[in-house]
Amino acid sequence: MGRSSDKDTRPSPLEPADWESFREDAHRALDVALDHVRERRNGPVWREPAAEARRCDEALPLDGAALSTLIDELQTRVLPFTLGNSHPRFWGWVHGSGTPSGIVSHLMMAAINANMGGRDHAPVYIERQVIAWMKSLFGYPEQASGTIVTGTSSATLLGLAVARQRALGQRVREHGNSASDGLLAYCSEQSHVSIMKAMELLGLGNGALRLVPVSTDFAMDHRALEAMVCADLARGLKPFAVISSVGSVNTGAIDSLPAINEICAQHAIWHHVDGAFGALALLSEALRPLLRGIEQADSIAFDFHKWMHVTYAAGCLLVRDGALHRQSFETAHPYLRGERRGIAAGAPWPTDFGVDLSRGFSALGVWFQLKEMGVRRLGEAIERNCEQARWLGRAVEEASCLELLAPVSLNIVCYRFQRPGIDDEQADRLNRRIVVELQCRGIAAPSFTQLQDKAAIRVCITNHRTTRADLQALLEATIALGDELLAGGHHWEAYDISRPA
Ligand SMILES: *Cc1c(COP(=O)(O)O)cnc(C)c1O
Repeated sequence: MGRSSDKDTRPSPLEPADWESFREDAHRALDVALDHVRERRNGPVWREPAAEARRCDEALPLDGAALSTLIDELQTRVLPFTLGNSHPRFWGWVHGSGTPSGIVSHLMMAAINANMGGRDHAPVYIERQVIAWMKSLFGYPEQASGTIVTGTSSATLLGLAVARQRALGQRVREHGNSASDGLLAYCSEQSHVSIMKAMELLGLGNGALRLVPVSTDFAMDHRALEAMVCADLARGLKPFAVISSVGSVNTGAIDSLPAINEICAQHAIWHHVDGAFGALALLSEALRPLLRGIEQADSIAFDFHKWMHVTYAAGCLLVRDGALHRQSFETAHPYLRGERRGIAAGAPWPTDFGVDLSRGFSALGVWFQLKEMGVRRLGEAIERNCEQARWLGRAVEEASCLELLAPVSLNIVCYRFQRPGIDDEQADRLNRRIVVELQCRGIAAPSFTQLQDKAAIRVCITNHRTTRADLQALLEATIALGDELLAGGHHWEAYDISRPA
């Protein structure tokens, strides 16, 4: 006993022995972080991680090192090789660009180290405030509920679990669902893969997800939806959910919410909206009308970390019928019993609305962003991206060697480089190679997609740092690279367009 009680006289084995020198290192870390964000625009968008950065074979550290050496290590092996989403020329997939104040909110988040599963403490009320703001933004009623999750993939999984609960009742929690229930869900063929995963995880199977064709604007053909639902009902099957996309992942197409609301209401089907990035167009008065009808949907999934630029990871699920939402996830266990007073008060707890018990304080990042920027400024940044996309779309149409492959509905432009005499298959290889070259040379970071039978360079502008000059540079580089590759020497025709293992 003697020895260990000697050790016990130290306040903590895990706190600094010298707080003042720790404070100095911590301040330097803050400077490194701020410089990283401020200077990011001056380097390449992306560079391939160096061998040192890819190393994962280091021995488990048995003894600790000084904080300052860790910061040095980050500076050499991580900071130079980040993805580039805080660079003005990053437009790949759908990424948020973050903000300098995100550094501050995450610093405070770490200091508070809240466990947001539940109980009675101020951080839980910050999350409730964020949810209340979102209910008001989306035009949801008082009895609606919501929860902050890691992203839209999780939000959609939870939203469809509530939809299944409505279709099968409380018995689904005891017995699960079975194929004989005949449950079917519907989304457009342009929908995000997270919907398919949600169906798989819920035990419904992705075979129970019907893909509805799209119209020429890449939005769901709602007449086809209605016909499919009616045919399935006639066969004795049970359509239980339609998942619409507001801001589809490839082109930013917005499904017709009023039409889908009507079909769902008529057949008592749950309407879940995947609004991962597009739903936040609501922050702009000018764009709001595009989302008319969203307030009637049964549930909405969207991300704070995309078009609102909150530091990763933060998404949200809103459910119109808050009581049903709670019934789908609430548990009764003495270990987690709530009380009227004391730390275990404060019901309902966030854990009653989802899967996680221990949860981080992502709500703080959202709260900070909304309070610091205000809805108007956030909405203006979104509008600016939509204007930039319209400008880019027009510039593509005006260039004889570029072809616009989808209408610009929101903030995404899909185009390809094309010269006479090049067939579609050659164009696929060429454009895929152009995207890789743009990325590898650090010029710009669009991504690549396939629209029906054509390969597309896809530019998704969820980036508050982008200026028109950046987009101009992208167009010039696309054309220069296209011609350079065509002129030979790069063997682009041999470029393997199959997916790497
Ligand atoms: C990004 C995205 C998702 C998935 O969201 P995560 O936050 O990445 O889980 C779903 N749908 C659409 C349309 C998206 O853009």
